[in-house]
Amino acid sequence: MALEKGFYKEAGLDVTIVERNPKKNNIDQVINGESQYGVADSALLLYRAEGKPVQIMASIFQHSPLIFIAHKDSGIVSPYEMKGKKISYQKGIDDAPLLAMLEDGKLKSSDYTYVPLDFTSQAFIDRKVDVMSAYLSDQPFLMKEKNIPITIINPLNYGIDFYGDNLFSTEKELSENPERAKRFLKASLRGWQYALANRDETIAALRGKYNTQRSVEHLKSEAQIMEKMILPTMIDIGYTNPERFHRIGEIYRSLNKVNKADIERALDGLIWNPYEKHKIDVRYLYITLALLVFIGAVTIILIYISRKLQKMVIKRTRALEEQQMVTDRYVIVSITDLNGVITYVSEAFCKISGYTKEELIGKKHNKIHDPDSPSSIYEDLWKHLHAGKSWSGEIRNIDKEGKYYWAQTHIEPIINENGVLTGYQGIQQNITDKKYAEKLSITDQLTQLYNRSYLDMTLTKEMTRFKRYQTPMSVIMIDIDYFKEVNDLHGHLSGDMVLIELARILKSNIRPTDTLGRWGGEEFMIICSQNNLNETVQLAEKLRLAVQEHTFPEIGRKTASFGVAAVESDDDELGLIRRADGALYKAKESGRNKVMQG
Ligand code: GH3
Ligand code: MG
Ligand code: MG
Repeated sequence: MALEKGFYKEAGLDVTIVERNPKKNNIDQVINGESQYGVADSALLLYRAEGKPVQIMASIFQHSPLIFIAHKDSGIVSPYEMKGKKISYQKGIDDAPLLAMLEDGKLKSSDYTYVPLDFTSQAFIDRKVDVMSAYLSDQPFLMKEKNIPITIINPLNYGIDFYGDNLFSTEKELSENPERAKRFLKASLRGWQYALANRDETIAALRGKYNTQRSVEHLKSEAQIMEKMILPTMIDIGYTNPERFHRIGEIYRSLNKVNKADIERALDGLIWNPYEKHKIDVRYLYITLALLVFIGAVTIILIYISRKLQKMVIKRTRALEEQQMVTDRYVIVSITDLNGVITYVSEAFCKISGYTKEELIGKKHNKIHDPDSPSSIYEDLWKHLHAGKSWSGEIRNIDKEGKYYWAQTHIEPIINENGVLTGYQGIQQNITDKKYAEKLSITDQLTQLYNRSYLDMTLTKEMTRFKRYQTPMSVIMIDIDYFKEVNDLHGHLSGDMVLIELARILKSNIRPTDTLGRWGGEEFMIICSQNNLNETVQLAEKLRLAVQEHTFPEIGRKTASFGVAAVESDDDELGLIRRADGALYKAKESGRNKVMQG
């Protein structure tokens, strides 16, 4: 869509998209200069370990779509049932997530018969092999069309999480033409954003101009699964987490595909940083990092200690000037006047925001603020500053390219020698990686609700509060009635859609103080803080009706059963859950589509 909609052209680029030729190695095509940019999976790390100078510009697919499938009636649902079976996949560098999953299931290569993959799936259809590797975005739909019931065995469920498609190029291209590369990256990401937001138009373009034999239905299903792989609501499209590549490197190493020294060398510089002008020796990087942390801490402490110290600081001469040069380079600092107009920014501030000093000085500081951040943050900030106090908190900013970055921010009023307030000074620390990791670790990937571990954490917290202040608290357990029917009659994907839809219904009927999460499978939990049993039963009844009256696309009506329990003195988390679970069981026993209390 970047090409179709003219985004490349707007960026001054003349782009030709070259179709993948299965007879050629597409990574080599980019390395030897046939193409300038390419798309490939996590195996890029291995190429780099072999000394091939590739660099990742953006990770489009946050997860690898590579999975195993088995015939449903074979009873194979995990690597544990694959012992003695015929397993078909493509041996080589792309098989790592699958092999790592087999290894996780303690399945050695002598425990099964390897059969090379035929790309028509015929051997699988004819049951000449029991298990076949496949793409989550593709084969499940094809099998559904052919009415072949299958089970999906996904490495993701075994904690093996590889990146799928990454946009990449060579070190030569990226260091010689960084501006061109930046423009190409930005326009490509814009294309992805457009494609996800305008699927029908994208599918029509694909079918009209490109070599695809797939039906509209097939491409729609593929788009739906791709969206889950790209996770655009959670992560900025293209975001690459270096930590995840460390883990991928470890998996490659455990499969003996590469040695430790090579992988460490490959990880260094694997991810292209468009703002980095020269490649720095790793040792300097560590020293700089340590310096940065140290100087950051020192600077914050200095600012805390009031005017007197500030005066002393000014008196210090050369040593400090030198230190300030370092501060300027490594600490993210900005100073504004009383109206929020920028009067100074450090080099580090320019680096993280992507703007030059000239582009920032004289402009309002809110040039880099995320307009979608809750206004309460800035209200609180100004309340503190207007009262002459400092303010600390986490702020989401937007850089020149339109990408988000999170900053731990400390702002301090500046008061001159005569005691007059002249402006504000802000110091920031980049916490983007931490924020994404936090969000990922507490979110259920399918429904985007909180996951089980977050619910557990909240229960413990609420229980402590109850013990201390005797504030009431209660939980609702929810289980969809006859959910297996949905999977059996309409397929797993439709089942997933019902879960997503149900999550939406529940979410729109609760208050912000309630905590809603996916407890497991097709079970949900709501933790109502400060609610007694009666109020919670009323809420559950309201939810039961909302579900009953909803029409699920293609499926029709579904109902759910509800178990409610309130905390009692001498209770613990387990006891409370047990009572809610017991109530849910009663609701199922007495005919389903009911609310029961325990
Ligand atoms: P009832 O609760 O009314 O007794 O009947 P049920 O058919 O809903 O039975 P149960 O609660 O035991 O069913 C759980 C089923 O949910 C089993 C499994 O196939 C399905 N399931 C669990 N997790 C998922 C999921 O992530 N996606 C899909 N599509 N199905 C799931
Ligand atoms: Mg269940
Ligand atoms: Mg159920």
